[in-house]
Amino acid sequence: MNRSLMALGLVVLGGPAFAQAQPTPPVGPDFSKIEVKTIELGKDTYMLEGAGGNVTVAVGKDGIIMVDGQFAPMHDKLKAAIAKISPLPIKYLVNTHHHGDHTGGNAAFVADGATVVGQTNEANFLKAGTTSNTTMQKVPPVDAAAVPKMTYEKRARLEVKGRTAQLTHPLSSHTGGDTYVYFKDANVLSTGDTFTNGRYPNIDYLNGGSINGMIEANTAYLALSTEKTKIVPGHGPLGTRADVRNFRLMLETARDRMAKLIKDGKSEQEIYDAKPFADLDAKWAPNEQAGKNFMRVVYTSVKESMTKKKSAKN
Ligand SMILES: [Zn+2]
Repeated sequence: MNRSLMALGLVVLGGPAFAQAQPTPPVGPDFSKIEVKTIELGKDTYMLEGAGGNVTVAVGKDGIIMVDGQFAPMHDKLKAAIAKISPLPIKYLVNTHHHGDHTGGNAAFVADGATVVGQTNEANFLKAGTTSNTTMQKVPPVDAAAVPKMTYEKRARLEVKGRTAQLTHPLSSHTGGDTYVYFKDANVLSTGDTFTNGRYPNIDYLNGGSINGMIEANTAYLALSTEKTKIVPGHGPLGTRADVRNFRLMLETARDRMAKLIKDGKSEQEIYDAKPFADLDAKWAPNEQAGKNFMRVVYTSVKESMTKKKSAKN
């Protein structure tokens, strides 16, 4: 059955051009030194590593569906790596969420002819600008061309000839506008930053994310996947269902420990001083700062969910 995108709830954003964005200085590593690594996942599906979030490429008979586009300066290198895989055009670029290490390439891929697809909230974050929960800096609105022209609410399907991508929006997870993408034919799942393999995630509580939503998203991945599913994480190496299970367990452990400390009446500083995640840090924190950041985002998200519960009871 050939179902159109419109029928599936994708709408085309129109209207006047959005406010011109200030150019954002590129953040990240020395891009000139980065080489893109292509990993074959079978059935003409690939994971690309470079700088920023991992990229997934699914090749059909008349075009390519791509998931995430890394930082803007990576565009030429990603484009060259994809051209080695297939001469077909990139028809769709799906954004898993609004963060710049996943969406920086939007405008340049649009200039190449791609249509950017994202969840409605994600498009709105890009359009309006946000505040970073890690740096507390304002992130300005992106250029109008970089905002998804096709958006959806809960679920959508994208098709090129011979390939289908199933898009799902997990509620309030890494951000409030996440998308995960499943390519059933290849048994490949692209999670964006709702799953980061072998490392602590950021939880963007300033822009709709929550630890409970992260746990729920990973529960959905366990239900969706088999032991053979290849799972492209937002960051980190290609993962398996077992990696998702470990990641979810780590999140649950962190949430439950944090909730107990807050319930016991400990102050934020007392909690940090007690180093409640010291054993987890050994496995999940690449450095001390990453451990501190994770403690802070878990504290903020757990505190917020407890406050919400309380006010719901009153
Ligand atoms: Zn992110």
